[in-house]
Amino acid sequence: MPELPEVEFARRALTKWVDGRSIVRTEADPKVRTFRGSNVKDVEALVGRVERIERRGKFLLLTFSDGRGAIAHLGMTGKFLKRPAGAEARWSRARFVLDSGEVIHFQDPRLFGLIQPVPAAELSRNQAVAKLGIDPLVDGLTAAQLEAALAASRQELKVALMDQERVAGLGNIHAAEALFRANLHPARAPGSLTKDEWARLAKAIHDGISFALEAEAGEEIEYVEEPGAKNPFLVYGRDGEPCPVCHAPIASVDQGGRTTFFCPSCQPKPGKPGKRPAKAKGRAAKPAGGSRSKSAPARGRKRT
Ligand SMILES: [Zn+2]
Repeated sequence: MPELPEVEFARRALTKWVDGRSIVRTEADPKVRTFRGSNVKDVEALVGRVERIERRGKFLLLTFSDGRGAIAHLGMTGKFLKRPAGAEARWSRARFVLDSGEVIHFQDPRLFGLIQPVPAAELSRNQAVAKLGIDPLVDGLTAAQLEAALAASRQELKVALMDQERVAGLGNIHAAEALFRANLHPARAPGSLTKDEWARLAKAIHDGISFALEAEAGEEIEYVEEPGAKNPFLVYGRDGEPCPVCHAPIASVDQGGRTTFFCPSCQPKPGKPGKRPAKAKGRAAKPAGGSRSKSAPARGRKRT
């Protein structure tokens, strides 16, 4: 499911596609819920030059040069695709036809995505956008900011990390990945974290986002849930597989109705005997291989 890095990937691709181009026609399929009751005519009025595409959390904010604008959300499996003139795209709910003849499709098989016309001047004041918390890429995210955003939460740490009003952009995948990188148990009480642990978690969030952005090549994204897709993540979706650091089996647990993946050895519950960080450091020099090796530098630098 698209989270901050995947939406940022979409932002970068879209920005590239519209650069120096103009949208000469927009088509929106009536009767699909992608537009959430907005007048389809207003969607189809989104033409001309796109001045700016910003991202906050999992939302894309498009500013057109005539003052029109739109909010887009990829939902569960939505994506933007660029296709040559006349080429079909399955589950295309909206099409932005460029002056080059190429077409940017909004593909949304499961219809959880959103395109909503909003005047550009009102984008940041839009209710869904205004309530978002700190965005790690747009706002930066220091240990102190992270602590200020989360420490008062009564929810378990992983659930609190996914609260878009606290930190914007992390979902089930990247919250789990950050906690693994920071050696923090997902059920910790946010109020119990030390300064050092907040610092580790802030760094882990940035490292996980950078890793995911680097893992995506080309202009078309592939979600880990799609059939045949590769799983580039350290613990997400790896129930029972060996931990890339200590080789203990990755465990899964239900948290707030979502499955959390973690290593019970690298992410011990406080008070429970866990692996000594020094040992993890030694193992990190020889990761299982492949893309997992990217975790090694982050873990080697931790101080505990
Ligand atoms: Zn482990």
